Amino acid sequence: MPIYEYRCQSCGHTFEELILRRSDEAEVACPRCQKRDVSKEMSAPAAVGGGCGPSPGGGGFS
Ligand SMILES: [Zn+2]
Repeated sequence: MPIYEYRCQSCGHTFEELILRRSDEAEVACPRCQKRDVSKEMSAPAAVGGGCGPSPGGGGFS
């Protein structure tokens, strides 16, 4: 399933977006503030095969 995780650079909100076409990527906007200043998060929540995973309980946006 072509679902990507995005993080809004404006308000820090993270959300998932279903991308069916490549052109959809340019249309992705934050559902909270409606801005398109978003970046794709490469870290999939449940599909990580790399070495270092995300630190549990770490700080971040709140
Ligand atoms: Zn936002």
